[in-house]
Amino acid sequence: MQVLNSGYVQLVESMGGDSAVIRNARRCYRSEAKTENADRQLLRHLIKAGHKTPFEAMVFTFDVKTPLFVARQWFRHRIGSYNEESLRYCVALRDYYVPEHLEGELREAWIRHNEAAFDFYEELVNGTGESKMVREQARSVLPIGIYTTFYWTVNGNALMNFLKLRLDKHAQYEIRQYAEAILKIVKDVAPISFDEFEREVLRISE
Ligand SMILES: Cc1cc2nc3c(=O)[nH]c(=O)nc-3n(C[C@H](O)[C@H](O)[C@H](O)COP(=O)(O)OP(=O)(O)OC[C@H]3O[C@@H](n4cnc5c(N)ncnc54)[C@H](O)[C@@H]3O)c2cc1C
Repeated sequence: MQVLNSGYVQLVESMGGDSAVIRNARRCYRSEAKTENADRQLLRHLIKAGHKTPFEAMVFTFDVKTPLFVARQWFRHRIGSYNEESLRYCVALRDYYVPEHLEGELREAWIRHNEAAFDFYEELVNGTGESKMVREQARSVLPIGIYTTFYWTVNGNALMNFLKLRLDKHAQYEIRQYAEAILKIVKDVAPISFDEFEREVLRISE
């Protein structure tokens, strides 16, 4: 799913789903899966009561491309695993965030600024003799709007915490776009869990 001017988020893999959450939760009550409505009521109860560990029975791995400043906010979510491309080992690609509302001269100046930073970076990385610099130092001339990519593996409970915080109107617009895309994706994988999460936590009625 495309996000911002050059980013994306896509689901690479998932384990479990509604049935795994229901199975784990029912162990607490020594009960078996019942009708879909009873299962829905159970998940609603878990969310309302803050009995959140059964949602850890589902796990998602996302492939994400996002500006560095968004990644920095994202990585504050400690419950999850990350592997990010390294600008110590890889040369940065000329790919940076341009807000969609930018127009005219401001847009041109924005692009000029980023292009100049990349020109200088490439000069340092590709230079010869004294002007040559290792990638890990040369990267410090790049702006924080450049794109990075990472894999994020996260369980359903930690993901709901991320979505609650990053879908909120207080969260920055850019990370909210990713959170909205992720909510759409996981609703396909675990529709009951994330419908109930939306209803009970985000307060969006059916
Ligand atoms: C709108 C907004 C503004 C923000 N502004 C700032 C800011 O200005 N400066 C700044 O530094 N951060 C800021 N943050 C980041 C915020 O403080 C959190 O670090 C971030 O949202 C991750 O949330 P979390 O700790 O709940 O998630 P996770 O790290 O994924 O943790 C999930 C849950 O696990 C538990 N947990 C995890 N680690 C611990 C621990 N060490 N001790 C106890 N419980 C733990 C907590 O219950 C936590 O809610 C902001 C976040 C938002 C959404």
